[in-house]
Amino acid sequence: MNSKIATTRRRFMTSILGAGALGLANPLSLLAASGSAISADKFSQLSQALDGTLIVPSTPAYEGARRTFSFNPKYNRYPALIAKCASESDVVRALGFARENDLPIAVKSGGHDVLSASTVDNGLVIDLQQLSKIDINNTTARVGPGVLAGQLDYSLGETGRALPLTCNPSVGVGGLTLGGGLGWFIGTQGAACDKLKSARLVTVDGQILTASSSENEDLFWAIRGGGGNFGIVTELEFDTFEKPELVAGVIAYDASLLKDFLSFYRDFMASAPDELTVEVIASGGQTPVIGAMVFYSGNERDAERVLTPLRSFGPPLADGIRKQDYGKVGAMAPSVNQFFAPANIDIAGEEKEPGLYWKGASVSSLSDPVIDNIAKAIDAGPEGWAFGLGHIMRGAVTRVEPGSTPLKRPLHSTTVHFDIGWSHKSQAADRMRWVDESTSALSVNPSEHDYINYMSSDNPDHIKAAYGDSFERLATIKRRYDPENLLSRNRNISPS
Ligand SMILES: Cc1cc2nc3c(=O)[nH]c(=O)nc-3n(C[C@H](O)[C@H](O)[C@H](O)COP(=O)(O)OP(=O)(O)OC[C@H]3O[C@@H](n4cnc5c(N)ncnc54)[C@H](O)[C@@H]3O)c2cc1C
Repeated sequence: MNSKIATTRRRFMTSILGAGALGLANPLSLLAASGSAISADKFSQLSQALDGTLIVPSTPAYEGARRTFSFNPKYNRYPALIAKCASESDVVRALGFARENDLPIAVKSGGHDVLSASTVDNGLVIDLQQLSKIDINNTTARVGPGVLAGQLDYSLGETGRALPLTCNPSVGVGGLTLGGGLGWFIGTQGAACDKLKSARLVTVDGQILTASSSENEDLFWAIRGGGGNFGIVTELEFDTFEKPELVAGVIAYDASLLKDFLSFYRDFMASAPDELTVEVIASGGQTPVIGAMVFYSGNERDAERVLTPLRSFGPPLADGIRKQDYGKVGAMAPSVNQFFAPANIDIAGEEKEPGLYWKGASVSSLSDPVIDNIAKAIDAGPEGWAFGLGHIMRGAVTRVEPGSTPLKRPLHSTTVHFDIGWSHKSQAADRMRWVDESTSALSVNPSEHDYINYMSSDNPDHIKAAYGDSFERLATIKRRYDPENLLSRNRNISPS
């Protein structure tokens, strides 16, 4: 839908709802996107039935609640309703309401999907952010999908336990785990989905199922990498492990060394022990810099030895690597966010309207041609460009039995992302184009591995290729659990 129509429809909805249609005695009918008429009584019934709250465009909380954290302004969407679910029963009710009224559905946990799949114009968002319990009991953790990775890291750390989650504390545990979940412990513990012991799901027909290695095994297989295609997950149970000693922090180099640094990094990581994970963020912001974010699971003496080549790459601009406590290390990502800060400039006659945009992809390895393409993109980058290398498939994540989950794990494949910020709207279009062109220039072959949680494309051929040999099995399971494709706001596995 073009933005003008979306705006007109939004105004229409707002004017009616704001005029008191949700005073709920009002018999006005509202035209939903699908063309079906939904009476105010029906809204009232849903609103009263929910343990949580129903948010509509006239609710003061609407503006905040409708937003996602996808950092993708191309998908600024306006749902008709947001059901802030406070219980599993709420999920059943909201889903039933959407079905009865033919409303498109989006499911939101942490809201970080790069294509904003967790919201939908004129539909119903089933918002799980209030399903945020964390229950840690000996070696297991039962977690609501709305818990953020950083909160879970922190709570686990307090009890001496740990999980392989993400490198970014603000990502939702729900979407992260369903798509795989790659983070600091990738080399020693694998992916978040590898630690999933069981999950509770609401299927599109309103059933509540448990999926585990002994119950609904096909579903359990599918949700460990197949995304939110098969049901709405209301609880995740993980096997935790003992939190290790940790040496972590950022070492920074001058961004002019980027090309050499990337070659060095590839070779360094190829022989690094599984205990070491290093993410790279480079930025041409106020101080053009390469930040290597280091995470070593082990003691300081071993870390010293393992990190010697990295420290010898050149004189660092800063070295903040030190003994740290898992659970509090999430703070590393916010400190890196400063690299994304757009220059604080003034443009005459223009209000500031800051924004951010990113796109992710995977490359099968950090080959010389890939590095050349990255370097060319950076050379052409506008002020404030940023680029990151994230998760390298290596160590424990690659040692699971092939096909035992839908998450593909080819050795050495690496996630990459281009990012940009701006302070004024007039800067946005050019900067976003740079991200788009830089990502395309990587010439990622869709038949190569594409980590679904970083996949900035919803082209069905790309999705099929990203799942490779697992695709047909996923499609069969999709047909069984969601034959009408009601859960389609995701990297969609079509049942047809
Ligand atoms: C700043 C940033 C940093 C990131 N860092 C990492 C990283 O270090 N490692 C990594 O692996 N990934 C990372 N990602 C990618 C991230 O894992 C995915 O975007 C993930 O899908 C986000 O999950 P969410 O719950 O926050 O998002 P949402 O947008 O809420 O959900 C993502 C998708 O999953 C579906 N979904 C969510 N919850 C449920 C549920 N309970 N039941 C059914 N379907 C559901 C949604 O409908 C949507 O399709 C990052 C993303 C961003 C924006």
